[in-house]
Amino acid sequence: TEIRDLLLSRIRDVADYPEPGVMFKDITPLLADPAAFTALTDALAEIAESTGATKVVGLEARGFILGSPVAVRAGLGFIPVRKAGKLPGATLAQAYDLEYGSAEIEVHAEDLTGGDRVLIVDDVLATGGTAEASVQLIRRAGAEVAGLAVLMELGFLGGRARLEPALDGAPLEAL
Ligand code: 5GP
Repeated sequence: TEIRDLLLSRIRDVADYPEPGVMFKDITPLLADPAAFTALTDALAEIAESTGATKVVGLEARGFILGSPVAVRAGLGFIPVRKAGKLPGATLAQAYDLEYGSAEIEVHAEDLTGGDRVLIVDDVLATGGTAEASVQLIRRAGAEVAGLAVLMELGFLGGRARLEPALDGAPLEAL
């Protein structure tokens, strides 16, 4: 489709970043192009509306950039899920495994409540580890996951299959 071609044309492949053998998908050309960034924001805001989301959760760091204008456009609040140690208030934390070692993400506990339906936004779905941990975090906060929306899914890494049980029927949209 037209929007898919526009978005794809603004993503730059960077070989051997952050380590040899990895082809990194760089979204900064897309952010620098107002037509592409606006089209992406509109498409994500449509997903927020169609899922009946009441809040947008963005995953550090590119999920902040993409999720914030979506929240504003859809008239919803924005909540950052951050890497451990960055949020000043009382947090809930969720650890998850990386290829080597583990990582931890956090959210301000008081920002999510029982009635909330959350759309999670990030730029890239790779293995799905980060998204899976955020789904668990949001549920533990007592909120419901309305869906997960990403700009791009790296299908060969199997993130969608990994996330399916966690999402429990909530949609995973990759533009
Ligand atoms: P996962 O947990 O799904 O393996 O990794 C997803 C996280 O890593 C996302 O937050 C995403 O921003 C980042 N990530 C992994 N690979 C890429 C990539 O090729 N390009 C970009 N922009 N982000 C990536």
